Amino acid sequence: MMQKLMSKYIAHHVNPDNCVGCRMCVEVCPSNALSSKFNGSILTIILNSELCMGCGACVDTCPFNVLELVPRDEVETFRMEIDVLRPEKVEKRKYYMIARKVVDTSYCTGCGACTVCPPNGIIWKDGVIDFPDWVKLCRDCAICIKVCQRYKSIFKSGIGEVIEVKGAKSKRFKGQDGAMVLEFVACALEMGVIDTALMVSRDEKWKPIVVHVKHVDQLKSERIAGSKYSIAPVLPELNRIIKKAGKLAIVGTPCIVTGLRLLQKEIPLYNKVKLAISLFCMENFRYSSLMEFLEEKNIDVTKVKKFNIKKGKFIVEMEDGVFECPIKELDEHASSGCSYCTDFTGVDSDVSIGSVGTPDGYSTVLIRSKIAKDIYNYMISKGYIEECDVNMKVVEKLCKFKVKKALKKEENT
Ligand SMILES: Cc1cc2nc3c(=O)[nH]c(=O)nc-3n(C[C@H](O)[C@H](O)[C@H](O)COP(=O)(O)OP(=O)(O)OC[C@H]3O[C@@H](n4cnc5c(N)ncnc54)[C@H](O)[C@@H]3O)c2cc1C
Repeated sequence: MMQKLMSKYIAHHVNPDNCVGCRMCVEVCPSNALSSKFNGSILTIILNSELCMGCGACVDTCPFNVLELVPRDEVETFRMEIDVLRPEKVEKRKYYMIARKVVDTSYCTGCGACTVCPPNGIIWKDGVIDFPDWVKLCRDCAICIKVCQRYKSIFKSGIGEVIEVKGAKSKRFKGQDGAMVLEFVACALEMGVIDTALMVSRDEKWKPIVVHVKHVDQLKSERIAGSKYSIAPVLPELNRIIKKAGKLAIVGTPCIVTGLRLLQKEIPLYNKVKLAISLFCMENFRYSSLMEFLEEKNIDVTKVKKFNIKKGKFIVEMEDGVFECPIKELDEHASSGCSYCTDFTGVDSDVSIGSVGTPDGYSTVLIRSKIAKDIYNYMISKGYIEECDVNMKVVEKLCKFKVKKALKKEENT
């Protein structure tokens, strides 16, 4: 009788906590060595070691580095149990639930955390979430729901927990205000806290583009500096690269940072993000909507040097002049999900950075974690920044204003 050839290596679950229960490993296994079964909400994935050929197809397919090939004699059994219906039991077909409850009702922030979807069944386009081919693609793992801040109605507000409040500006970078976002990223790179930062740059028409910043010199780019008043795909890009990423920082609006924290809670692999910087944010716009507004006002977006929102005014600085109007004029162009948002400062971040509270050309900096404090101390010790006083009353006022605005919207819905 011919003896079966067994590979020296076998698939094993080295990071079972990262498993979301998408079962893509089971589907791709060419020898049917992997199988899965449900018992209530508990999904069990089992490997029949005799059938495993050590081909690594499951390892390559797994989006979250759950599996690796290991020497056959080093492991005994492969059995993973995942509660795929945590944190709450929901109907079958999760795409449908998130689409109906969040996206169709305009609650969606557009943060894009749900694009974590293992078979890429959830798509981000200009701040709008779409579910093409969901009937075919949905694996019912519920990860989209678990990381959705609006499905669970997570509403954060206020200043949040802060270790220290600072006002400062960078001496070496030019930014929207004090360039403190650029300075935080630069120092995190210099200190080796991170090797890459996901930041929002733009094209010539101000369309936000997420870029990978690996060197301090990149931060001198005019396009990386400054605020883009459009929802940016920071989390979709994070989801795309997380499997192979090193130590990351992300910069985003408060909803992006909350989305990150939910991803980290559900999938420890996302703890590769060592630094989360939030911008203060009253509201944001869909790119296409903002462009419509500029067109109505006959503004050539390629000539714009800087956008700003200050003291209730939307200000467009161009090569040949300045356009100003009350921010209210842009109300109908704001993303609908923003009108329900109560988080002005980004309470889930390591450090929040905004404009209000400090004089022109400086940034208000709310340090929330030890890592952010270490980075700030480093920039002081290097003489990279110049400090100023902060007026927190105005920040508190805007926190309250955002909550009031959201409550009013809820009442009228
Ligand atoms: C949509 C939006 C609304 C804001 N609303 C307020 C407000 O009401 N009050 C207030 O005080 N401050 C607000 N800010 C923050 C403010 O505009 C500055 O971003 C902040 O003061 C930091 O300035 P800085 O000079 O340190 O930034 P810089 O050092 O110039 O850093 C800019 C970095 O911010 C990131 N970024 C820019 N645009 C986006 C975007 N759309 N999405 C994600 N990341 C982005 C990029 O990574 C970019 O490199 C808002 C910012 C945005 C993007």
